[in-house]
Amino acid sequence: MTRIVEPRPGYQALSVYRTEARAVEIDLSDNTNLFGSAPSAVASLAQWAAADPARYPTLVTEDLRLALGGWIGVAPDQVVGGCGSNDVLDSTMRALGQPGATLAYTSPTFVMTPHFAAANSLRPVPVETLPNGDPDVDALLATGAPLIYVATPNNPSGRAASQAAILRLLDRASGVVILDEAYTEYTGGTWAREAVARGNVVVTRTFSKAWGLAGLRLGYGIGAANLMAEVEKARGPYKVNAVAERAATAAVRHDQAWLDQLVATTRTMRDSVVRRLADLGFDAGGSDANFIPIRVRDARDAAARLAARGVGVRAFSAAPVVGDVLRVTIGPEPMMSRLLDAIADVPR
Ligand code: PMP
Repeated sequence: MTRIVEPRPGYQALSVYRTEARAVEIDLSDNTNLFGSAPSAVASLAQWAAADPARYPTLVTEDLRLALGGWIGVAPDQVVGGCGSNDVLDSTMRALGQPGATLAYTSPTFVMTPHFAAANSLRPVPVETLPNGDPDVDALLATGAPLIYVATPNNPSGRAASQAAILRLLDRASGVVILDEAYTEYTGGTWAREAVARGNVVVTRTFSKAWGLAGLRLGYGIGAANLMAEVEKARGPYKVNAVAERAATAAVRHDQAWLDQLVATTRTMRDSVVRRLADLGFDAGGSDANFIPIRVRDARDAAARLAARGVGVRAFSAAPVVGDVLRVTIGPEPMMSRLLDAIADVPR
């Protein structure tokens, strides 16, 4: 077996990301858009084979950055593309963090955040959210970390950080703040233009959630042009494949009305499912995203019971602040009915 000569502290202990894959009929575990995909993107995919697959894509997502810049109201050089927002987060940490520096992050949150920090030789330091789910801004700042990560809406709570909390964080942070907006289409707001104006903020976003294009693996970052250039430098050219770039560019240009409708449909269904769960005695409120946290007595046991009935959810056991919760993606009524039937005898 090949030996790794000089193991990096914190790196060797990491493991390859795996989900608890269960054979389920209805997968509500990954917060993707179960209502469908942006139609112009789908049409673009159908035409792809007739394009020119022999050639490389654009060097650094020029076409997509132009479309996104117009959509968000920033310049194309204030946008960077990536292979999912995973990749943008990873590249941002590599580009902007000194090896050994601290990255403070709200806990609980997206599991890959501390992973990417450690993989990039940073020191991830968790800071528990407040009981209401807002980031504990004073505690984040008190770490003195040159890099601070906050997801809004957060995962697994689904809660968007209050405007006051984010403003306070941005006003006082001395280093770089990463705002992960993977689910922000569901809230309607974005800190993207603020990020550009302030110069020390990177917003990350994705086509994996509301746009319904997780299979294409496409995310992006927004921030001041000099920061985006540093992030771009952290990896090679052609990071985003041509199929994904063409499809997402078409969606951004043509599918705003579809997106608005999708968000409205998802929110209405979310509120209805939360109400119906409350009727069954479950507390599942507080989400601003396309998934809900259902508080249960024993998350692992509850997830196993649901899986036995063909419904896959993500279990969080004894997670900081939230305890035992099932994170469940909102989808069309037939899926939600199956969830509500299957969960009825799970201990609250
Ligand atoms: N951020 C958050 C908060 C997420 O929940 C996820 C996906 N679960 C991501 C980022 C990464 O998504 P992607 O790489 O598909 O853009």
